[in-house]
Amino acid sequence: MTKSNERNEIGWNIDTSYARLSHSFFTEQEPNPVESPKMIILNSSLAQSLGLNIGSLHSEGAVSVFAGNAKIEETMPLAQAYAGHQFGHFNMLGDGRALLLGEQITPKGERVDLQLKGSGRTKYSRGGDGRAALGPMLREYIMSEAMHALGIPTTRSLAVVATGEHIIRETELPGAILTRVASSHLRVGTFEYAANFTTIEQLKELADYAINRHYPEIEADENKYLSLLNKVISRQAELITRWQLVGFIHGVMNTDNVTISGETIDYGPCAFMNEYDPATVFSSIDVQGRYAYGNQPKIGGWNLARFAEALIPLLNENEEKALELAQEAVLEYPKMYHANWLTGMRAKLGLFTEEEQDEVLINNLLEMMKNHHADYTNTFRALANEKLEDTNIHLFRTSEFTTWHNKWQERLSKQEESLTSSYEWMKKSNPAVIPRNHLVEEALEAAVENDNYRVMENLLEVLSNPYKDSAESIYCSLPPESFGPYRTYCGT
Ligand code: AMP
Ligand code: MG
Repeated sequence: MTKSNERNEIGWNIDTSYARLSHSFFTEQEPNPVESPKMIILNSSLAQSLGLNIGSLHSEGAVSVFAGNAKIEETMPLAQAYAGHQFGHFNMLGDGRALLLGEQITPKGERVDLQLKGSGRTKYSRGGDGRAALGPMLREYIMSEAMHALGIPTTRSLAVVATGEHIIRETELPGAILTRVASSHLRVGTFEYAANFTTIEQLKELADYAINRHYPEIEADENKYLSLLNKVISRQAELITRWQLVGFIHGVMNTDNVTISGETIDYGPCAFMNEYDPATVFSSIDVQGRYAYGNQPKIGGWNLARFAEALIPLLNENEEKALELAQEAVLEYPKMYHANWLTGMRAKLGLFTEEEQDEVLINNLLEMMKNHHADYTNTFRALANEKLEDTNIHLFRTSEFTTWHNKWQERLSKQEESLTSSYEWMKKSNPAVIPRNHLVEEALEAAVENDNYRVMENLLEVLSNPYKDSAESIYCSLPPESFGPYRTYCGT
């Protein structure tokens, strides 16, 4: 392995605070170099915000860092240890195909992890080759950047580099490495690992690290570990509400995929819902629908209960008291979620004020949408259109809907704010474009099969401004019948 960028033209400003934790939290690991790395896509605006020099990022030195062929200055990459409940079952996991390069300190003084995904096997790889295919890495790039543009906390995608090697899945596929940026990769599963496989001192060390990194404002609290629990609960309640409001289905809400920062992480089997139906599932392995759209809020609570359990030794010396504190905290989650959801739904319907009957109004609409197979995104967006008859939404032509619409209009007319301001607000609360599954697949196919990146670039451009009506209606189109049922996959 060679060292790159001796003179640091690239703009690395790296610290390695995670590597200063006890050794049980990670394993140092040289990435396995790849044959012929080639930059496929680089996120210039993200790079700029990180303080990196865009002009130097296509250089051989930079590309070899993104490929795992060179280290950044004196740093040593590492694989993080973590455990997690996968579909309800506890397992020891850890980065099986990812490596933390270090933490970039941005010009604003923020600290973010730079992580390679698809960089080869590690000590924590169970099965699997430690590699990733180009299609899925581009898919993570598209999905995570779309989420960011929607205003939803998420890990970001900095670059995708093709490795020039093939990997074996069902067929041979071109390999690639994604460089992921996250406010950290600390997960509920990191705490489960600490609680189950390290000492109480190390659990405390991890909790202190998480507080210092994400919630320094609670440092002086009387019971800072309880405050940490409360913070994570509230961030996750906020995050999952935002998913629900845009129809995002994560697909694999295992506890190792739940961040302490409250960012969305792990874009394997995720997808956006078209027709509104709480039972919607895309992931090929989620046969029971554990992570179906409508179950996400409840699963969020289940995952937070696992976080609370992991923290018990720190919450109080008396175990019974600690359990009581943990339970009390976790019970706040459904209330927070419900309040957030109501607030968000009111915004989607242009309701500035709060009335008791609002929830019934909202649920009646959702019920009708489900019965009439109405598209979630387009229906909400169209409601902000003064001429509903101009839209092609079948639901709007039913008598049931007319009754509902009258009630909604009556409710809007009771507000001080004008109808126009309600509609304006709705346009800011209901995206016009989401990464539609068939469009994402089309973009990936053009890229991977035909080496044509234009389709993806155009899609990314539209997705970067999701609250703006797109000039091209194709971006709001529903999948053609020939697209069939959509399936997504983990570990691709
Ligand atoms: P995920 O479904 O991405 O949350 O991954 C669950 C676990 O499987 C993590 O420990 C991953 O690092 C590991 N993993 C996923 N894909 C691979 C792969 N191709 N090779 C090795 N480990 C993998
Ligand atoms: Mg994961």
